[in-house]
Order: sequence, then structure tokens, then C-alpha cells
Amino acid sequence: MYYFNFIIVFIFGLTIGSFLNALIWRMHVKKSMAERSCCPKCKHVLGIKDLIPLFSFLWQKGKCRYCQKKISWQYPAVELITGILFVVTFVINFQAISFQNFQFSIFNFQSIFNFQFLILTLQDLFFVSTLIIIFVYDLKYGYILDKVTLPAMLVGLILNLILGITWQNLLLAAVIGGGFFLAQFLISKGQWIGGGDIRMGALMGLFLGWPQILVALFFSYILGATIGIGLIIFKKKTWKSEIPFGVFLAIGAIISLFFGEQILLAFSF
Ligand SMILES: [Zn+2]
Repeated sequence: MYYFNFIIVFIFGLTIGSFLNALIWRMHVKKSMAERSCCPKCKHVLGIKDLIPLFSFLWQKGKCRYCQKKISWQYPAVELITGILFVVTFVINFQAISFQNFQFSIFNFQSIFNFQFLILTLQDLFFVSTLIIIFVYDLKYGYILDKVTLPAMLVGLILNLILGITWQNLLLAAVIGGGFFLAQFLISKGQWIGGGDIRMGALMGLFLGWPQILVALFFSYILGATIGIGLIIFKKKTWKSEIPFGVFLAIGAIISLFFGEQILLAFSF
């Protein structure tokens, strides 16, 4: 039963990954989710055989069945990463809840129907999915969409309140996350970062809470600085060119979501 749960969660993650790919593409070309999926190159409508996460790509050797053009590696990569992150979320939440609750057991299927576990997992899976969209969209198109961050903020706030996190805690975290970027925005007169980063900071605060927001900001900056300096040294970018910071924020947020409490404990914050 233990492994069976993981396989179900992994397959669910692959499917959501496939949905996220479709969502990213449709938000970019401003198409509705109701329209059927088609090949971005030849516009041929895709059938069931083309839409099986990960496997369609492998079977067709990364090519469209109709026009034989290459399919971006983004598609299987997003599906696989979503599947893996969903399993990690599931395992970490299971451990967290079973640590608090003696009767909660990973070997007991009934445990999954624990209210706290369900809401926590729903929230984390939603957050992970949002971060994947922000990561891919910012990397590919260079900006963070308000139509992603604003509704997600509301979801994070509501689910955290249901989980019993105080509004004072969430407000503090959102102000720190957003304010951190607002300050840089004002100092640089909008040169270093965009308004999307400010909303992204607040979003991270509303999901992670205080003091986990600090862990996310810390790792985002370390990662952003390391890769930024690396790119400048290897002459891929100049000081002037914009580096999509949403990419690093998404990674920092994932690190904080999964390991934030242990990291804070290790530094006895
Ligand atoms: Zn095609």
C-alpha cells in the first residue's frame, strides 16, 4: 500500500504537469483552456495518444506525429519534475503529520483522510504547481504574470487560515516578502526588478508564513547571485541585462517549503 500510494501520487503529478504545460502555452498565446490541444508547430489537433504525459514524448522520440518537428524538452521535463515534487510533498507532509499524530501511519490508507493532512497537502501541491508555472514562464518569456500571482495569493491566504496560521503571521510574511522587493524597486527606480517580483514576494509570504519566508529569500538571493555572477564571468550576460529573478524565487520557495523548518531549526532561529 505504501508504494502504491506513491505511484498514484506520481501519476497524478505527471498529469498535472501536462496540464501546467498546456496552461503556460495558452496563457502565452491567450487561448482558452476549453479549446483542444494542438501541435504548436503544425496546429494539428492532438489525440489521446499524443497526450499521455512523459510516455507520448518517449514513444514518439520527441517528435510530433503529424509534422515530425521536434517537441520542446520543456514538456517532458515539466511533467517529470511535477511528478517528483508531488511525491516529495506527499512524503514530507506524511512525515510531518505522523510526527504529531500517533495514530497517523503511512501504512494505513485511512490516514490520508486526515483533515489537516488533506488541506496541507492540497495547499502545498497548489503552491508547487504555481511555482512551476512562474519558473517556466519567467525563464521562457521573462515576466511574472499577475493573473497567476494574484489568485494564488488568495488561495494561499485562505488555506493557511483554515490550517490555523494567524493572519498576523501571514501579513508579516507577505509584507516582508513584498516589501523586500518594493524597497529594491524604489531604490533602483524599477531598474533591478519588476513589479511582478513584488507580487511574487508577497505570494511567497502568504504561502510560507513567518519565518520561513526568510529561508526562501535567502536561498533565492544566494542562487541568483551565484548564477548571475557566473553568467557575467562567462560573458553570457552583462550587468545591464535582466536575469529572470522569478526563476530563483521559485527555487528558493521550494527549498523553504520542503526544508524551511529544519533549516531554521539548524540555525536555531
Ligand atoms: Zn506538429
